[in-house]
Amino acid sequence: PGRLADKVAVVTGSSAGIGRAIALAFAREGAKVVCSDLQPLATVDINDEAHVATHDAIMNEGGYSAFVKADVGEAHEVEELVHEAVEIFGRVDIFVNNAGIAIEIDEPSASGLGIAKTSVSVYDKTVKVNARGTFLGCKYAIAQMMRQEVGPSGDRGWIINISSIAGLVGCGGCPAYCSSKGATAELTKQVAVEYGPHKIHVNAICPGVINTAMVKPITTDDASTKQMIAAHPWGAFGEPKDVANAAVFLASEDAAFVTGVLLPVDGGYVAE
Ligand code: NAD
Repeated sequence: PGRLADKVAVVTGSSAGIGRAIALAFAREGAKVVCSDLQPLATVDINDEAHVATHDAIMNEGGYSAFVKADVGEAHEVEELVHEAVEIFGRVDIFVNNAGIAIEIDEPSASGLGIAKTSVSVYDKTVKVNARGTFLGCKYAIAQMMRQEVGPSGDRGWIINISSIAGLVGCGGCPAYCSSKGATAELTKQVAVEYGPHKIHVNAICPGVINTAMVKPITTDDASTKQMIAAHPWGAFGEPKDVANAAVFLASEDAAFVTGVLLPVDGGYVAE
């Protein structure tokens, strides 16, 4: 059996990129995975495999999976996602708040808009998905975990929030994105402190630049790509599986005494 055998995991934003890699890694470790996104297939992805829905890919490998459509910015949809996960697999042990957007780096300027050019609506949209979405995921997943029987390890649940290096240091010209990821990081610590006594692990991963569709706009020309790579002492961008491996650790009993951490998976970016 894998490290997550018999666990039920929900992963938001699982149709592409990092969320997809986390869902697949969890399934390979034996978890039953509820994949969730705005739609089952990625609209844009740099990974060809994403043309097969993540939950189909898991089932093709003999795992257990389901897809539940949800917009993480909408409270009733996140609440319903948790209810459906319980309907399908009976409980929720692990909840990954991964769904996210970076409107500022989608803009033609690519390196971000800066605060003067960031519109109020870009700020609101970004914070709604990234920060509010994570708040909602924590809120409804924890309510469910508190209703469940505690497993044999004594742990009641595992929450993993995908923040960013942008939640730890001031990155480029993306004030809305940085604000949303900083909020995610601080929320992680608050909830970890509040739910430590209930044995719910709450941790965040802060990825550096990871090769996904999200960062395509900043890697179109050689100069900006070289500059971004140079900011990572490791001398490369990360891959979705690098974040997924950290998520498996944080969701497993190997992380028994780990809670409230903001774990950079960034090739040394924030260490510099
Ligand atoms: P991605 O764009 O490849 O995938 C994001 C997924 O989230 C997509 O499938 C998208 O449909 C989904 N999504 C967007 N809005 C949603 C909503 N409102 N409700 C539900 N799903 C929604 O991006 P990625 O690089 O895989 O990013 C995943 C997470 O990692 C995000 O939170 C992102 O901010 C974070 N992150 C990414 C990087 C990076 O360099 N790629 C670095 C640090 C943090």
